[in-house]
Amino acid sequence: MKDFLLVYNKLYNYYGAQGWWPINKNYSGKLRLNYGEKFEICLGAILTQNTSWTNVEKTLINLRKNNILNINKLRLIDINKLAELIKSSGYNNQKSKKIKQFIKFLDSDKEINRENLLDVWGIGKETADSILLYAYNKPYFVIDTYTRRIFSRLGFCDEKIDYDKLQDLFHSGLDKNFILFNEYHALVVEHAKVFCRKTPVCSSCPLNDFCEYYKDNCERLINK
Ligand code: SF4
Repeated sequence: MKDFLLVYNKLYNYYGAQGWWPINKNYSGKLRLNYGEKFEICLGAILTQNTSWTNVEKTLINLRKNNILNINKLRLIDINKLAELIKSSGYNNQKSKKIKQFIKFLDSDKEINRENLLDVWGIGKETADSILLYAYNKPYFVIDTYTRRIFSRLGFCDEKIDYDKLQDLFHSGLDKNFILFNEYHALVVEHAKVFCRKTPVCSSCPLNDFCEYYKDNCERLINK
């Protein structure tokens, strides 16, 4: 049985608390959020699809500078004008449509749950789970490319494992606790940036003592 908590503890001991989700560039780890902060997280979760967080921050700064980083202004703004303002996040025409659809959903007063979020055009599983976990404190583990990369290299799963199967492994291997899931996903992202990059830096990685990739590709070379 692979130990997800052991990996978490190792990552946490190495990197410390990550303070997600960043709001107005502030990594405070705040869990009691006001409506505007929740909305900013939802917006960030949509904008970060297929782009880096650095680009999303540029977009959020631009929206703030133009005084439209709130649901009331974004509800009224012309969709093409919005696409112009969010250009730095890429796929801007699609994303402006997604933001408009998401606001329509919020205005519908439907319950904010996974099933309803997945019915909104442009909201996939990763985005829905990011919204539920980081804006609404619901225990859904967020799966992304980094999660697949690290956990397949560690030997927990196949690299092509589908979203639900890998999420099920996390959900059954850990207490369903939103604070733990919040911190764990943030640590996974940090680890993928620092050590477990596309070309991994294994020799000084804090997880290398039980990593299958390391055993197969690095240890053997060292012992040759
Ligand atoms: S030892 Fe290498 S492959 Fe394994 S988790 Fe660390 S960086 Fe990734």
